[in-house]
Amino acid sequence: MLMRPWNFSAGPSALPLEVLQQAAAELVDWQGSGMSVMEMSHRGKQFTRIRNEAEADLRELLAVPDDYAVLFMQGGATGQNAIVPMNLLGRNGLGKADYVLTGIWSTKSHKEAQRYGDIAVAASSGSETQIDGVSQAPWTWYPPVQGWSVRPDAAYLHLCSNETIGGLELDVLPDMAALGAGNVPLVVDASSHFLSRPIDFSKASMVYAGAQKNAGPAGVTMVIMRKDLIGHALPVCPSAFDYANVAGADSMFNTPPTYAIYMAGLVFKWLKKQGGVAAIEAANIAKAKALYDYLDASEFYISPVHPASRSRMNAPFFLRDESLNAEFLAQAEQAGLMQLKGHKSVGGMRASIYNAVPMEAVQALISYMQDFERRHG
Ligand SMILES: *Cc1c(COP(=O)(O)O)cnc(C)c1O
Repeated sequence: MLMRPWNFSAGPSALPLEVLQQAAAELVDWQGSGMSVMEMSHRGKQFTRIRNEAEADLRELLAVPDDYAVLFMQGGATGQNAIVPMNLLGRNGLGKADYVLTGIWSTKSHKEAQRYGDIAVAASSGSETQIDGVSQAPWTWYPPVQGWSVRPDAAYLHLCSNETIGGLELDVLPDMAALGAGNVPLVVDASSHFLSRPIDFSKASMVYAGAQKNAGPAGVTMVIMRKDLIGHALPVCPSAFDYANVAGADSMFNTPPTYAIYMAGLVFKWLKKQGGVAAIEAANIAKAKALYDYLDASEFYISPVHPASRSRMNAPFFLRDESLNAEFLAQAEQAGLMQLKGHKSVGGMRASIYNAVPMEAVQALISYMQDFERRHG
């Protein structure tokens, strides 16, 4: 039997073993074609089928409404940081957009957008605050939605619904009308929890996600957006990144990342077999609860994020005695628990427990942490 360690990487991250095995079996001869998917014309009927099935499965998994386009793009979520403003700022001729800052990724999005227009901060958690009398460090909490200030004539409001590095997740998307900005489309960077839970398209006008966190290998970026937001690109926008060109050519304006789309398509089929997004969400809730319950009960480890903002996907934690960090990581690897080191900007540890990381892996991590605590506590 193939023995693989548990992989807690934040991204690129664990893929379902069944998906890897199917890809391996089909690597040199896809379904009797005598060719690898990598060798096929992106315009041929075989790849067209792969691409169409991927889109249909994604639409089914997320119940994407018919008036939303599904695009497969390149450039990652980082590329979208520029592609979004270049495509949307021209919508109403005012060139304004508002951003909610909750950590490293949303801050990067905001910084990039500033190159293209009049960009304001609608809310930020970049300072220390008090929540229920307890002090919360910067970037460890979501600013309460009622306090967001959105310009009613902004071309869009941008937020990151799962801050991969800080380990924050927004459970309920804001109702723009309640913020006095009913005509402002909500644009969401959902990279690191895409397909881990349903998406409320009555609130999100556009969602984008790089595949490599939860939906496939690096190389393809999924964009799901209201069709009426397409067609307003600024003249500076490269034609390959103009949503109108991409949508008009079924994501084949130029050669798409064919193998990454094929792999993401296999992940979509795997998800359907697991029972779809509702079933995977239930599993994700159970995994996150097990890990956070343990962290909360322990005196040895600390979970820095406010409980109401904790991510189900990325759980940062600290050892109270940070001089034990190196030993913790080295022994974790010996125990088959890989890539637990926290992001350099946060320090400590981070366990990313995406869709493809099963409860068994979370339990192995908790057992190891208990054992380490017993030996050092
Ligand atoms: C990883 C990540 C990004 C950056 O993705 P790239 O593919 O490296 O461009 C952006 N936003 C979030 C939330 C991420 O997790």
